[in-house]
Amino acid sequence: MVETGSILIRNGRVIDPSQGLDAPADILILDGKVAEVKKNISKNGVPVLDASGLVVSPGFIDMHVHLREPGFEHKENIETGTRAAAHGGITSVACMPNTNPVIDNSGIVDLINQRANEAGAVNVFVIGAITPGMEEKDIANIGELVEAGVVAVSDDAHPIQNNYIMRRCMEYVRMFNIPVISHPEDKNLSEDGQMHEGFYSNKFGLKGMPASAEEIIVARNIILSEQTGTPVHIAHVSTAGSVRMIREAKARKLRITAEATPHHFTLTDACLATYDTNLKMNPPLRSDNDVRAVKDGLKDGTIDCIATDHAPHQASEKLVEFNLAPFGIIGLETAIPVSLDTLYHGKVLSLNEFVEKWTVNPARILHIENKGSLTKGMDGDVTIFHPDFEITIDASAFESRSRNTPFDKWKFKGAPKAAVVMGKVAWNAEDVSLSV
Ligand SMILES: [Zn+2]
Repeated sequence: MVETGSILIRNGRVIDPSQGLDAPADILILDGKVAEVKKNISKNGVPVLDASGLVVSPGFIDMHVHLREPGFEHKENIETGTRAAAHGGITSVACMPNTNPVIDNSGIVDLINQRANEAGAVNVFVIGAITPGMEEKDIANIGELVEAGVVAVSDDAHPIQNNYIMRRCMEYVRMFNIPVISHPEDKNLSEDGQMHEGFYSNKFGLKGMPASAEEIIVARNIILSEQTGTPVHIAHVSTAGSVRMIREAKARKLRITAEATPHHFTLTDACLATYDTNLKMNPPLRSDNDVRAVKDGLKDGTIDCIATDHAPHQASEKLVEFNLAPFGIIGLETAIPVSLDTLYHGKVLSLNEFVEKWTVNPARILHIENKGSLTKGMDGDVTIFHPDFEITIDASAFESRSRNTPFDKWKFKGAPKAAVVMGKVAWNAEDVSLSV
């Protein structure tokens, strides 16, 4: 999205943890940049959005999204995926490299940036692959990827098993100002697994994926990060053991950060009783005890951000026997309701802490310097939400090309109301008044 705009957002409760701000104020954005945040701004000739009764915050950044383009456009593309983000109140996404071709060279990065400029409803940041073709045979030309603008490299969907390759990757990445994003999974331990290994996998007769499959790689990557000095971000933390190790690594001031997804802190493996393939994802839904630990990790700052791992699949791909269904759940259009309901109404996080995990923290981890804050001169990205609005999820109204969510028809407390991207309204709910 290259177009910029101007807008006056009036009468909201502005929460911007980057500057410790939580107060009623107006926000003026001129030519895509924050010009002023204070009470009673008047400005003629710009559109006015009335945010009375709503929370106004820096634009939410979802640092873990699969946009599926190029190669899997039947599931999602850059246009539908970014429209889904806007419709969910998210103004920036970082897209994962497991496309076809894989994002392992500057040509593909350029292609995605070009498509995002043409058709993107929100800002798109690109994450590069660690190994060419994600085949774990050699290291990708990470210098070339960084020059083309990637904000991180990742092995998401094809977790690196070989410790030596991961060590070399970290030594290479240390030369640049980006993190390695790790999908922590030991494939030897998780192979053929369908759900979390435990009481319910036995009960339901599905092969389990043990917590240890995640934790062994979390441990390895913490050890290699300490050895190499390279920042490592642990994706979709789902087990109590992972939370414990990340907490200890942070206490020792290692360069480890982490994210958790709304489904992992809201649902448990007991939900699989329905055999709904929309509940099949990787890492899998874990036990009650793990969910509690992830919430504790969010509360005490062990887990820095909330990210969706939006992973679209066509209905026909999910309408198969459980064992044959692909892993993945979409999340962009349910993220704010699910996470507000579980974390804010569930008394895990304050609204300020909640906003922090969607804004300044991911911006800091990915070194996105003009976003995550509403201080003067920053990009004019704004997320507007109602923390108490009761919403019923309607998957048929999604902008995403896919519908693989278990939350259809579920009710949540808290909803997005508008997304402003570089000063232009990318989406607003019908009950939000916008005068142009
Ligand atoms: Zn992953």
